[in-house]
Amino acid sequence: MAAVVAMVVAGAGALAPVPGTAGAAQAAAGPCAAWMDRGKTADQRADALVAAMDLPQKLHMLTFDDPPWFLYYGTAGHVGATPELCIPDLVLSDAGSGVAGLQIATTTFPSGVAQASTWDPVLQRRLGRAIGKEAHQKGINVMLAPGMNIARTSFGGRNFEYFGEDPHLAARTAVSVIRGIQDNPVLADAKHFAVNNQETDRMTVDARVGERAMREIYLPAFEAAVKEARVGSVMCAYNRVNGPYACQNDALLTKVLRDDWGFDGFVVSDWGAVHSTARSAMAGLDLEMNAVESPLPTGGIYGAGNRFFGADHLRAALRSGALTRARLDDMVRNIVRPMFEHGLFDRPVRPGLLPFIRDVSSPAHLSLARRVAAEGTVLLKNRSALLPLDRAGGRTSAVIGWAANPVGAANATAGGGSSHGSGLPPRVVSPLQGILAQAARNGDRVVYVEGSTGLDARLAAAAADVAVVVATDGATEGSDRPDLGLRPSVCLTVFCSAIPIEQERMIEAATAANPRTVVVLDVGGPVRMPWLAKAGAVLVPWYGGLEHGNALADVLYGVREPGGRLPQTFPTAERQVPFTRAQYPGKAGRATYSEGLLVGYRWFDAKRKEPMFPFGYGLGYTRFRYSGLAVRRDGAGAVVSFRVTNTGGRAGADVPQVYVAAPAGRGEPPRQLKGFRKVRLAAGRSTQVRVRLDRRAFARWDSRRDRWAVDPGRYGVLVGPHSRDLRLRDSVRMG
Ligand code: BGC
Repeated sequence: MAAVVAMVVAGAGALAPVPGTAGAAQAAAGPCAAWMDRGKTADQRADALVAAMDLPQKLHMLTFDDPPWFLYYGTAGHVGATPELCIPDLVLSDAGSGVAGLQIATTTFPSGVAQASTWDPVLQRRLGRAIGKEAHQKGINVMLAPGMNIARTSFGGRNFEYFGEDPHLAARTAVSVIRGIQDNPVLADAKHFAVNNQETDRMTVDARVGERAMREIYLPAFEAAVKEARVGSVMCAYNRVNGPYACQNDALLTKVLRDDWGFDGFVVSDWGAVHSTARSAMAGLDLEMNAVESPLPTGGIYGAGNRFFGADHLRAALRSGALTRARLDDMVRNIVRPMFEHGLFDRPVRPGLLPFIRDVSSPAHLSLARRVAAEGTVLLKNRSALLPLDRAGGRTSAVIGWAANPVGAANATAGGGSSHGSGLPPRVVSPLQGILAQAARNGDRVVYVEGSTGLDARLAAAAADVAVVVATDGATEGSDRPDLGLRPSVCLTVFCSAIPIEQERMIEAATAANPRTVVVLDVGGPVRMPWLAKAGAVLVPWYGGLEHGNALADVLYGVREPGGRLPQTFPTAERQVPFTRAQYPGKAGRATYSEGLLVGYRWFDAKRKEPMFPFGYGLGYTRFRYSGLAVRRDGAGAVVSFRVTNTGGRAGADVPQVYVAAPAGRGEPPRQLKGFRKVRLAAGRSTQVRVRLDRRAFARWDSRRDRWAVDPGRYGVLVGPHSRDLRLRDSVRMG
């Protein structure tokens, strides 16, 4: 496919040197001096530039250029440079697990849900920084990442790209990843704003959400992205939100984003998510990205209506008065301001054939990918300490499953859709390869079978000392999961096709034949586990990226711990969370969020239901003791401190989690995550953990007064290793 793209690019005559990337130093002395002076603030530079632009130059900034979509060096789209004003190209590409789309020779890192599973802001920032660096080397200066929609249902087709079901965890992860990306002269993009929680009818569905759920569940990650991480751009979603389409939703794009949060970057549409010219512009959309001009069909997974921000449309809107000149200037300013702030003018990108084919992955990035994959892997079950495997040597391991071999793993390590890497060059380390390498070092034998008949899985497992069965489910953008089964697929960017492999039978056969069977689930979200009682151990590495097999072998052999904790509840069955059709996927074009705040563990806790595995859950290879909780007021918030001791026989990590239980009667869920810390400790060592809770940790959205409010009363503060094991309890009086 890469060859095809390169040919199309060449055919479109885009091989000529790309203008507008002249050295900043040269520009600083020329006609652009007023805004190329790095001594000035981003605001001053943006003002000076906009004042110098004529109308055609401004109109040019507001929509995409040809060649569209992936035809410009495999990027998702671009706005061409304006050399006479020293404005560089704005080059946009997907997505959250690395530079993807039709880009080649980049590192595919673990997917968003795996990143969130690490609960490790330092690691997440390093990951973001690596992604941003590769982007810049590829000639890309806007990464269309991270995605931060809330996993409202287990079925959401894109949950694997996002950061789970909890707004606090999603916000912390988003802030770290964005800071990392923007450590480079590259803008991150907080998407999809907002309430884009399902793929079924994603182009049209109207998400009807109450104000509190909106502010307390669906918006906090975006809010933190804007206020804390200073994200340069926000992508408005395909769906409607309480009536209007997200990209022409004044309540979201202007009232919340600009007025309440003070966002001073630009709003870019999702690809083809625009439905109007003046209405969208006046509501707060700044940049329209790839619609396809008629006569291409509309609808489908890419929505793709006409172009609405073409120069003719915008001129007509100006003439009619529906769009004001002041707003037009604002739109341009919103685009160039973050470009100044984050160094896009000073270190412009140079898209071209050379960066397109250049291999920007590196040993350092691959080893980071390996580390993140292990840190994001969740160990759900470990009967009789089956894991880690001892290193005595001489054992026979059976590796079972299509997803374990190099062909299967190429698909099982990343979800489908725009975030899917091209897979070129093909260098994913499959579980089989990773395990073979470790086994060779350890003096073990490895036998592989595909497992598709069931019988082969049974025989191989029965004859082995230990069996590792790898299964996958191929979640993708554009469609929701029909159930919580394991359905593998093969994806070529947005096009995925199912492949008919029966994996549940394979797992049943292996686990029945050998109690020392480790089940590995390369999945994007919860799956059902009818075989759970028989499995010896269960690992969820999610979509683990290029280094998946190496990271898995590290975890199996205990070179690294499985560091992950669930960012999403695993229900016992599809129907355990009893959504009505009106709630999901919706009726008559509407999805009614009548569950309000009771999303994920909030619902399980409020209804006293036992999930299969609770939010925040995950085992390691050692044990921890929690003690000595003390909570004291600190200004408008509180400081929580406690002691964590590694009481096991080896070094390891744990993630103590702090939940706040609001006083009864204010409509809050029983308890909500408000803080956490990833703690690493040698055997026998202990540490004092301090977690600061700010005022917001105790606040609820007061819809009547349109602001955050802290009700006076006693707030429970609960600490433990996951949402259903909160061993330490204290309280604090607020308000
Ligand atoms: C997706 C976005 C993506 C864009 C560009 C859309 O279909 O929803 O997440 O950034 O395509 O590829």
